[in-house]
Amino acid sequence: MGEFQPGGHSSGPSGLPGRRSLLAAAAGLAVTGLAACAQQPAAAPASRPASGSAPVVEDIGQHPVVPETRPALPSRSQVVAEYSRRKPVQWGLDVVGVVSKTTSPHAVLTFDACGGPNGSECDHRLLQTLRKFNVPATLFVNGRWIKANPGLAADLAADPLFELGNHGFRHQPLSVSGRSAYGITGTSNAGEVYDEIMGNQEVMERLCGKAPRFFRAGTAYYDDVAAAITNSLGLVPVSFTVNGDGGATFPAPTVAGEVGKIAAGRGAGHIVISHFNQPTSGTAEGYARALPSLMDRGVTFARLGDTLPL
Ligand SMILES: [Zn+2]
Repeated sequence: MGEFQPGGHSSGPSGLPGRRSLLAAAAGLAVTGLAACAQQPAAAPASRPASGSAPVVEDIGQHPVVPETRPALPSRSQVVAEYSRRKPVQWGLDVVGVVSKTTSPHAVLTFDACGGPNGSECDHRLLQTLRKFNVPATLFVNGRWIKANPGLAADLAADPLFELGNHGFRHQPLSVSGRSAYGITGTSNAGEVYDEIMGNQEVMERLCGKAPRFFRAGTAYYDDVAAAITNSLGLVPVSFTVNGDGGATFPAPTVAGEVGKIAAGRGAGHIVISHFNQPTSGTAEGYARALPSLMDRGVTFARLGDTLPL
């Protein structure tokens, strides 16, 4: 850990601001963004949006008509000043400020790519299964995984079936006091929390042309102060309701069984966590078994951003 520096992937969607503003002006709508990480403004549960469905307006290189309204984010030094004296009182998967479920009628499938020496592959069969069934998903990608797979990361960012979320720079549990989870040492202070979030946020903003809205810490462990810092940086920290693949350790029948539990209540509100960086795991086969029956039972799927309006 710690070997990866940002900046490995430099391509960016040139000309987007002009195109976005022209689109917004043409449609008379708020800018929703054509950037790859949030291509579809409306929920598209279990139905793959048609690519190119947005109106196409020639980018003539004008400056943006509609200014970006993103509020200024606190700097690292401001975060350190604001949060360094605060003592955490919670630690775990479900702490104050972390979203672990939604109020949506849809289920949200999330898949993490954790990166690192044993975590930088891609489970193509799993992605093919999601595409085959037109099941949207939110993919949390770590900075080390992007570094190892720049072309693939760009492809995923450009696929409207998927929404990319930030899975940290070094894949650390998010702590202001160095707490550990599953043997992985967490960040040790507010400054390191900032680095873990924003180090990868910068990488992903270049990758997607837009800053991701969602963050999941490595291991999904947070303390409440770190969760507050995440929110202050404009990101929603995310946990889950169902552990679908046990960190990509479950055999396929177990994955199918765990994911299948969301059929009760037709999946409403659930956030399922699994992984798409372990192609030899039972995850892909488990989902290939589970998804048809879930859909038959009326479960619909949406990306996290479709279920949590801005
Ligand atoms: Zn992870």
